[in-house]
This record gives sequence, structure tokens and C-alpha cells, in this order.
Amino acid sequence: MKKKIQLLDDFTINKIAAGEVIENPKSIVKELVENSLDAKANEVIVEIKNGGKSYIRVTDNGIGINKEDVFIAFKRHSTSKITSVEDLFTINTLGFRGEALASIAAIAKVEIITKTDISDSGIKVIMENSKLIFKEDIGCPVGTTIIVTKLFYNVPARKKFLKSDNAEGTSVREIVANLALSREEISFTFMKNNSVIFKTPKNNDFFNTIASLFGKDLCESLIKINYINEGLTINGYTTNLNYYRGNRKYQLVFINDRYIKNKQINKVIEDTYKTLLPINKHPACFLKINIENNEIDVNVHPAKTEIRFNNTNKVMSEIKLAISNALRKSNLIKKVNKNTITPSFEKSVSDINIFKNTMEQSYIDNKPSIKKDETKDNAYKVKNDHYYNLDNNNDKIKSPLIKESINLSKVEVYSSPNKQIELIKENKDDIKNNIANLFIIGVLFNTYILCENLKDNEFFIIDQHAAHERINFEKFNTDFLNKKVISQELIAPEIIKLSYDDYSIFNDSLELFTDLGFIIENFGSNSIMIRSIPMIFIKSNINQLFYNFLDSIKAYANKSKTYNNERIIKEACTKSVKSGDKLHNSEIKKLLYDLSKTNTPFTCPHGRPVIIKMNKYEIEKMFERT
Ligand code: ADP
Ligand code: MG
Repeated sequence: MKKKIQLLDDFTINKIAAGEVIENPKSIVKELVENSLDAKANEVIVEIKNGGKSYIRVTDNGIGINKEDVFIAFKRHSTSKITSVEDLFTINTLGFRGEALASIAAIAKVEIITKTDISDSGIKVIMENSKLIFKEDIGCPVGTTIIVTKLFYNVPARKKFLKSDNAEGTSVREIVANLALSREEISFTFMKNNSVIFKTPKNNDFFNTIASLFGKDLCESLIKINYINEGLTINGYTTNLNYYRGNRKYQLVFINDRYIKNKQINKVIEDTYKTLLPINKHPACFLKINIENNEIDVNVHPAKTEIRFNNTNKVMSEIKLAISNALRKSNLIKKVNKNTITPSFEKSVSDINIFKNTMEQSYIDNKPSIKKDETKDNAYKVKNDHYYNLDNNNDKIKSPLIKESINLSKVEVYSSPNKQIELIKENKDDIKNNIANLFIIGVLFNTYILCENLKDNEFFIIDQHAAHERINFEKFNTDFLNKKVISQELIAPEIIKLSYDDYSIFNDSLELFTDLGFIIENFGSNSIMIRSIPMIFIKSNINQLFYNFLDSIKAYANKSKTYNNERIIKEACTKSVKSGDKLHNSEIKKLLYDLSKTNTPFTCPHGRPVIIKMNKYEIEKMFERT
């Protein structure tokens, strides 16, 4: 039989509405705390028991509610924050729908104690099942306390879906921490089962707020972010390379004092650290973004944790710039972790290949010349030795095939030399002091360069191969971006017969190959003739080199034929760059100098460390001298 259509009563409407706003203790706490913030409180206490299932209390020292308004506040669509549609466009409070209190009172028992500064006494009201069951005047300080008990007592289906006390408690703690981070001028106290879990200061200091929430370890690794461009400011902290996590939970973003979730921003954060951290490790990053209100649309989700930007690309590249600027300004050298040192020096010492230090020798004098015997892999003709001389580009390829088809804006922002030139300058001396001027002790296992900073009593171990990878990758990537890859003509061109598939991929990416420094001609019936290769790869096997690039292009080209050039270069570079095994002292000096010129000398393109540092104290400690 068809059911009669009828209007729902208020109780039912409130319960349905509650379902949308109130899912769990976390959503109650969020709504109540946001009300406290809208009420201009600067102290908020959140207390829960049993993960919030049996007890939630939020106390604030905000403006309070007038006695005669208390009951109205519990009605649906009752709000003091807007009066008309026009207000919606200028709203700057967290709530305005007037749903939260009504919704909570529909599914739990709610007690409210509140007082304004114009009233001599406060009022206590208890609501259950959306009905007023108790009301009396009481003495209390200005502000509001709301206590929620018996959560979902009348909606068993919802109650069943609550998680364990522990899990619910954890999500409450997370939301309170996020709210605390969003307002460093407000003190938040979080209590669980009668003990204080954290208390943030109200001294307007974001660092102190982070410290009170996340502890010393994380804070010791924080680098300040400070970026201003027109209407956009990005402040906050991000971690250096000594700290990383297995997940992205500690990447928190606040836009105009609101915690928001935005996967794109997380991706930008990750991208900025891409070659710096080990695979599957994530930085902690706390970003405070202030952007003009007309540049965003916050009202896309009822819980308002999502946001849309009018100009997403611009905002994303500015975020990236803000973080990479901060990283570059800081000293990213990895600190040695005591557990990774096995002090078996008896064996090692005899392996140390001791060199006499020749610090005075200038870099220019040490420009290596290419010797025939180092390159027996290929027959080639040296056209120039400008690889080591960045200024001389006489021999760069002037190919008619170069077109502007590659989308350069897709490439890493921080690799773009022009934009960053100021910052590199600023930082250059620091890095030089740290790396280029180290006293070279020797080379261990033909791989690890041992150095000493005589002034500061520091000991450095530099992975020669990782350093080479970093230098070559950055050099090649920069040259590529500037269309200045230096090409090396082969004496005997290499002819390769390709499979049909490879041949068609090659043909599609001919322009890219040209920009990469290859000069390749079609040789008929799926064959190609390689005439020139990028100078940097002179020591590689040509056939192998070509396939390294072709395979990387295959892997990182998407269907629309736009290439992730940086990935391609990174892949191909690490596979193809051969670093000479045994280095002479002058070559080490050259390597350190080149390393000091890179943007991020501290890790190889895959994120493994290039440099490890120990100070005298740490070594003395290993010998139990301290
Ligand atoms: P909204 O926040 O969307 O206006 P709520 O149901 O959350 O709706 O709250 C209704 C009204 O109750 C608010 O507009 C505000 O006037 C009042 N209110 C709620 N909590 C507080 C508080 N902690 N301090 C002062 N006023 C409050
Ligand atoms: Mg509200």
C-alpha cells in the first residue's frame, strides 16, 4: 500500500540533520570548539571520557549567551552569525548554519552553563531529546560550558558505528590539535579520562604551539617558512632531512586560520622533498596560508574542511616555492644517527687512502681533461670540454628541430635557475664553507671521501657516487631547462635497429631527444643513427644510454604525450652516469666544489644521503671519552 506523504516533525528533522553534521565525538567537539572560537574565547578546554562516547565537555571564556537566547540557540537554523542572504558573502565566522546545537541536542543529553558580561548571574539549561528538561540561574564566570553525555542513546544504529574508545579518542585529540594549530593566540587544553594530554600556550607563537603538541624531536628539525607575494602569505614550519614519518599525518595546512584538507597541497609538499627523503618517507609540514577571501571558495563542504582556489596552479607553485626556499636556506646535512655507526675502526683505518691536502689549488686549475683511455667504450671526438665550464656554450646544439613543445612549467620550480638565483647567492657561502673548503683526509673503500672541518671540529663522510649523481643530475637538468645541453659528436655514429614499438615511441619523442642533447637521424626500416650524445654521458655505452632514455620516456610519458621531463632525466641520469672509481685529490676537490654548487647537495636524486656529519663530541662519545 502506498504510504501517505506528510510533513516530518521537528524531532525527526533534527535527527536527520544530526546525521549529517554529527557522526562521532570528533564532530561534536569540532562544532562546539568552533562555536567557542566564534565567541572570541582565548581559552578553550576540551575534556572527554571513553573517547567522548560517555562524556564531552567544552569550556570557553568567550562572550557567553544571553539567558533569553539560550533556548533559541538550540533551535534549528538559529544563529547569531547571519541575518540575511547578503551576510553569507561576508561571513568570517566558522559556523553560520545554526544547526550544530540543535543537532547535538537531538541525539544526546546536553547541558549548557553560560554567562555574558552584562548579566550578574549565569544560566544552566539541560536538553534531552530536543526538549528542555532543566533550567536555573547559577553563578559562573563569563563564558560557556557545554557538556554532552549519552551520545546516540536514542539512535542505536549510529551508536553501533562508533569505534573503540581509543580510536574515537584519537580522532578527538587530532581535531583539537588541528584547531589549536589554527589559532596560536588561543590556549587549548585537552583532557582525556581526567588527565591533561596537552595544553598549548596563547602567546601567538606557532612554534611553541607545535612544540606543545608534537614534542622536542620534531621541533628540533623544524625550518621556518616565510613567504609573501602580493595577496598571499605562507608561513609555518617544515622539517629538515633528519626527521621523517611513514605517513602524511603531520602535514597540516591552515588557510585563513582554518584547518583544511587538500590533497593537491600534500602532493606539492611531497614533490618539494621528492629527491631529498628516502622512498615512502614523508616530511612534517605545518603551513599557514593567508589568501584573500575572494580568491577562495570555502563553502564547498558542510564540514568546511575543503576549499577551492580560483587560481589553483598559481597557489600550488607558490607553496612549492615557499617550502623549497625554506629548505634551501637551511643546512640540510644529515646528522649521523649513532645506531648507524658500527665502531669497527681497527679494520677501516688501514683502508684509508691518505692524501696530502692541497687546499690552495684552485678549482680552475683542476679542470679535468678527458683522456682517451677513460673512454674506450666509444669512439668519439672531443668537441669541447665545456662540461666543466658553465659559461661557455659555443657548442650547444643549434638544431632546427628544437621547438617549444615541452611544457616547461611542469618541471620542478626549484630547478629553474632564473627564479632562484637570488636565493642561491644568499646561501652559496654557507654551503661553500661547509663543503668546498673542507680539509680532505682521504678516501675510504674507494667510495667515501673523508673530510674535516678544522674550524668547527666536524667530520664529514661524503658518498662519492651519490655526490656524482646529484651533481650530474642537477647540471643536466638545468642545462636541459635552459636548452643548453652540450652535445658530443661521435666519431663513428652508432646505428641501432629498434623494435616497431620502440621506433614509434622514439619518433614521438624526437624533439625531446634533441633537447636532451642527442642528434639522431632516421636510418630507414626502424633503424636510427645516433650522431651526437649529451656530453655528460661520454663514458657511457651509447646503445645502453639511448635505451635508458627511451625506457624512461616510456615510463614517464602519459597518454597526452606530455613528458615528466625531470623524472625522465633523473632515471636516465642515475642509470647512465659513470663516475670514475678512483679519484685524485684534485678531482675530489673538484667534486666537492661542484657539489657545493648544487641546489641540494645533501641527497642523491633518489633521496639517499650524500653527506654524513659527525662532530668531535660524537666521536669522543663512541670512545667513551666523555
Ligand atoms: P552556528 O554556530 O552555525 O551559528 P550553532 O548551533 O553552532 O550554530 O550555535 C547557535 C548559536 O548559539 C550561535 O550562533 C551562537 O550565537 C550561540 N553559541 C553557541 N555556542 C556558543 C558559545 N560557546 N559561546 C557563545 N555563543 C554560542
Ligand atoms: Mg556552530
